[in-house]
Amino acid sequence: MSSKSTPRVVIVGAGFGGLNAAQGLAKGPAEITVIDRKNHHTFQPLLYQVATAGLSPGEIAAPIRSILGPYKNVEVLMAEVTGVELNRRMVETPEVEVPYDYLIVAAGAGHSYFGHDEWEPFAPGLKTIEDALEIRRRVLLAFELAERQAAAGESEGPLNFVVVGGGPTGVELAGTLAEVCRHSLAHEFRSIDPSRAHILLIEGGPRVLPVYPEDLSRSAEEQLRHLGVEVRTSTMVNQIEPGAVHFGEVRLPAAVILWAAGVAASPLGKALGVPVDRAGRVTVQPDLSIPGHAEVFVIGDLAAAKDEHGKMLPGVAPVAIQQGRYVAKLIRREIEEAAQGRGQGVRHPFHYWDKGSLATIGRAAAVADFGKIHISGFVAWLSWLFVHIFFLIGFRNRLLVFIQWAWSYVTYERGARLITGSTYLPGWNGSGSSPKADATASQEIHTGAAK
Ligand SMILES: Cc1cc2nc3c(=O)[nH]c(=O)nc-3n(C[C@H](O)[C@H](O)[C@H](O)COP(=O)(O)OP(=O)(O)OC[C@H]3O[C@@H](n4cnc5c(N)ncnc54)[C@H](O)[C@@H]3O)c2cc1C
Repeated sequence: MSSKSTPRVVIVGAGFGGLNAAQGLAKGPAEITVIDRKNHHTFQPLLYQVATAGLSPGEIAAPIRSILGPYKNVEVLMAEVTGVELNRRMVETPEVEVPYDYLIVAAGAGHSYFGHDEWEPFAPGLKTIEDALEIRRRVLLAFELAERQAAAGESEGPLNFVVVGGGPTGVELAGTLAEVCRHSLAHEFRSIDPSRAHILLIEGGPRVLPVYPEDLSRSAEEQLRHLGVEVRTSTMVNQIEPGAVHFGEVRLPAAVILWAAGVAASPLGKALGVPVDRAGRVTVQPDLSIPGHAEVFVIGDLAAAKDEHGKMLPGVAPVAIQQGRYVAKLIRREIEEAAQGRGQGVRHPFHYWDKGSLATIGRAAAVADFGKIHISGFVAWLSWLFVHIFFLIGFRNRLLVFIQWAWSYVTYERGARLITGSTYLPGWNGSGSSPKADATASQEIHTGAAK
């Protein structure tokens, strides 16, 4: 421990893992410093609702300072952590160095373009509020530009929306985009018919939601088709350019391309200088500490942690939450033991309690995997809704989101349809015309949106 009488615990990241660790240590026998580059905690499972104009950012995010405000032993620093000096026990930021006795790194993950980072500007991913607002801007802008073009009597272009990646994020984005086109916007344009927009979900593997049991993947695909999404499995995207995506021999012009295909752990994992896996996740010990440094823990999406059977734990919120609570309890106990002059007890390994998985697909469409019980459709969707609203931070947010949801369920209304910022859409040329189709390759796929 440091020379100060009260030990200091530094937590990097105020996502699900970091926040739960901080709350577990609050009012305890340590000084806690939470460092995050953002001033807010984001409830990522509802980001797709912001991206598709169903909810506003303030309804799914909350200031870290206000969440942790009630705890006097917790301070919050808004800063970018650039590295950790393990031997000096120092967290580095461009402005200050922060010493620690215990360190919890919970910096999460970002997107991976599998070595094609140049695709990112043309096919944004969904991870932060900023990403969600950018996707919302592009989606809404595409309809406005198509309407303007059709109103000017210019030749109609295809209004294609392509989502790359059939995991939970790709599935919920594609399904909800279909709902927006078929219902929310259907009657508001005069020169185009948004309901004829074409939503394509491309998945490289043989089925969507690959981590779910096969029957639920099949059900998810059926539900997507029912919502109006074209699903292409076993299809690899091999090139993305402004306004077009390539797969096989096909070049498909697309007004909006979204990337939901790959996850890469925060670079902070590598910066620790300990072994990481191919996705950059830190290989942790059974107690979530890193090799050779029992005082440093890595949790959540940044950790490559295994269960008792050697199976890798998934990158989902409940894993991060349970790991945050586990590490907090462990540190608290050790600090108390040290204060009482007792020797350190044995560290029991982290055990993940898997309560099941839920994936939403769209309006009244979802799948739920509760071990032996598999549910699809409306009941799964209702379960998803209640679980996710229940876990939202803050009563006000929960109530607001519930009211918004109930309202939009009845009316199909999506209340946050604001285009803010630039009116540039990659691939849409300045005169207002859409990306030109490759006549040979894309005939079979295009669906014009013009009336
Ligand atoms: C679109 C989307 C939908 C999802 N849906 C679901 C779902 O329905 N159910 C589910 O269980 N899981 C879902 N997940 C996964 C879940 O959100 C993650 O597993 C969970 O957020 C991981 O928690 P974490 O604490 O490890 O990281 P995060 O919650 O990502 O938090 C990381 C924090 O670290 C901060 N940070 C990162 N780098 C630095 C740095 N260098 N310096 C300072 N701060 C830094 C970030 O700002 C962030 O606040 C979804 C994820 C996404 C992206």
